[in-house]
Parts: sequence; C-alpha cells; structure tokens
Amino acid sequence: MILETFPVGPLQCNCTILGDEEAGEAIVIDPGDEVGRIHSRLTELGLKLKQILVTHAHIDHVGGALRLKRLTGAPILLNQNDLPLLKMMEMQAGWLGVATPETAPPDESLTDGLLVGLDRYPAEVLHTPGHTQGSVCLHFAPLKMLIAGDTLFAGSIGRTDLPGGNSQQIIDSIQTRLLVLSDETKVLPGHGPATTIGDERRSNPFLQAQ
Ligand SMILES: [Zn+2]
Repeated sequence: MILETFPVGPLQCNCTILGDEEAGEAIVIDPGDEVGRIHSRLTELGLKLKQILVTHAHIDHVGGALRLKRLTGAPILLNQNDLPLLKMMEMQAGWLGVATPETAPPDESLTDGLLVGLDRYPAEVLHTPGHTQGSVCLHFAPLKMLIAGDTLFAGSIGRTDLPGGNSQQIIDSIQTRLLVLSDETKVLPGHGPATTIGDERRSNPFLQAQ
C-alpha cells in the first residue's frame, strides 16, 4: 500500500494519494492545488488514477480537481450538497486573492453510505454536514483510517462562519458519525497533523460535554 499525505497550495490543504501497487491503481483525495506535483508523483509510482475524491467544495480542496481529471481521465466525486459552493468559485478565489480555478460539476455525488476507493482499500462515505452542507469524511474501515476533510482537526473542528456552515450541525455530525468509530482509528484532517478518534474524544475542547 502507498499512502502519502502532503500539504498543497497557500492554505496547505492536505492532499492524499492512496495506491495499490499490485493493482496499479490509486485514488487522490483533495487535490486543492499543485496538480503538476500530484500528477508527477502518480507517474513516478506508475499508478493509474481511478477516482478523484473531494471532501468539500472549498477552493483549497477542490481547486485542482478538474486539471487532474484532464490529465488522467479519472472521475471527480463530490457531494451534491456542495454544488452551490462550487458555483461560487470566483467569490472563493476572491477571499484568498488568487486566480479562479476552472471547475466542473462532479461525475458522481459522494452520497452517504457510498463505497468508493480501491478494491483492496475501500472507503465508506460519511456525510458530515456543518463545515459545508456537502462535507464528507471517508472511512477506510479495513485500514482503521478516516479522511476528515475540514470537519475534524487535531484539537479543533472546522469553521462554520462561511456560506453553508452551521455550528450545531458540525458538532452533531462529529458526535454521531465520527466519535462512534473506534478509538484507534487514525484521522487524517484536511489541514495540520494527524490524530486519532480516541485522542479527539478525550481532549478536543470543542467536543467536551458542556
Ligand atoms: Zn473547508
């Protein structure tokens, strides 16, 4: 198994490549920027890209998805509840003062319960609205690993002050969909260092009973 997570772009979004050398296939999660680097790495590894999975439609996570699709032919998957945000790309680029990346509607919606990923390393989509209405986490149960997007961070949670954000909803999503996973589940957030479900249940200040 190949698992590489590295920050891309000005907001340092964690992009992840998960690959299966035997099958010669990979998925990329959240190619927000630096598409040339992501594509070179896939080429170096000799892996064919099967899916581009996007946890939510903020520019720092989705910005490079269409370019990567054009380079590889892989489909883009994104929850349909984030389509309004996808259409606001020019405004999002304005927030950051960067050029507006070209985007296109996803090839398929990351709906709750959908199985995505690689044959040997499948993931279940957990719809976890709150940071945005279409935010999802990807639970790779056989790997005891969660890709958390901007829903859960080490010691923090996603902001809810942008369009589509809802502070009670993100807490509900984390409590009902994420904290029910086993303590040892490794969490790879959309920004910053990795953590575990157990560590966040014990010490995340946003998740303690009031
Ligand atoms: Zn975000």
